Amino acid sequence: MLGQRKKISVVCPAFNEEEVLARFHAEVSQVFEELGQEHELELLVVDDGSRDRTLLVLRELADLDPRVHYVSLSRNFGHQAAGAAGLQYATGDVVINMDADLQHPPALIPQMLELWRGGYDLVLTSRDEKSGFGIKPFARKVFFWLMNHWSKGKLNANYSDFRLLSRRVVDSLLQFPERHQFIRGLVAYVGFPTAVLAFKPVDRLAGVSKFSFLKLLSYGMDALFSFSRGPLQITYFLSFVLLAFTLVLWTLPWILSENLGALLPGQMLLGGLVCLCGAFILCSQGISNEYLVRIFEQVQGRPLFFIKESRLPGECRQEKLALYESREIGSP
Ligand code: UDP
Ligand code: MG
Repeated sequence: MLGQRKKISVVCPAFNEEEVLARFHAEVSQVFEELGQEHELELLVVDDGSRDRTLLVLRELADLDPRVHYVSLSRNFGHQAAGAAGLQYATGDVVINMDADLQHPPALIPQMLELWRGGYDLVLTSRDEKSGFGIKPFARKVFFWLMNHWSKGKLNANYSDFRLLSRRVVDSLLQFPERHQFIRGLVAYVGFPTAVLAFKPVDRLAGVSKFSFLKLLSYGMDALFSFSRGPLQITYFLSFVLLAFTLVLWTLPWILSENLGALLPGQMLLGGLVCLCGAFILCSQGISNEYLVRIFEQVQGRPLFFIKESRLPGECRQEKLALYESREIGSP
């Protein structure tokens, strides 16, 4: 492997990132300048339906630097779909996934490549930080606990979406037909020799996080439901708990004194039991529905994303789009 010129695709999703893209491009270019001729850079940005000037900035960057490629999705399809588009259109011998906001330091790329050249197919990165307080860190902890518990996995809450994937890992990931792709989990699932590098997280260069709590929740639910049968098994567990509870309620008046029987009149017992049964049935129905919805979406087989415009090696969709638009505007 040593000595050959290798193409490295740095792939990043961008949603309303007009403020950071130029600096991101400059820092990544700087790293590859220092790396020398042995590494050819392809910088592939997936514009995830941005509503700001992200696409304009990308057009400018691609005009100035032929190593910059982009695909612009027709609307915001979400971080995971943008990631899937990136993997599909990257042409490198190796792919490095990272975010556009420079929270993933490009300075780590040489070390990642060193490990790859040393035989690792996957280089993951771990944020070297103590988890903070607040709803997001707490939700993240609960999510990873459930995920590891139910899917018997070894996902680490500190692992980030900054990772290197060899071509054979990328090709393996492209074989997954599932709609709700939790790439961090899929990467662990495919196996291959894996190394982990730690990095100190920094603040966003500019702009705000594009992940609201609700977006994170839906992302987490997709991951849990696509990776484990655990939630379905909760219903068995709950039914046993409910059964035991009912038996206790029915036998208490006989076992204990008459006073307790007076404290827990029959109506209360019955009412509580009915509510509990209702809650249990609704809960298990809700869990089953989550799977049903995902099966439905999978069966529908809709494309994960649509491309509005792109600049990729060997093609110029922008021109095709201009032609299409002029036809639309012109005579019927
Ligand atoms: N992102 C995206 N689509 C979305 C949300 C986020 O492409 O719907 C991109 C975003 O532009 C960034 C990366 O995903 O490059 C990570 O998002 P962000 O930095 O907002 O997440 P955080 O670091 O706060 O978890
Ligand atoms: Mg970020």
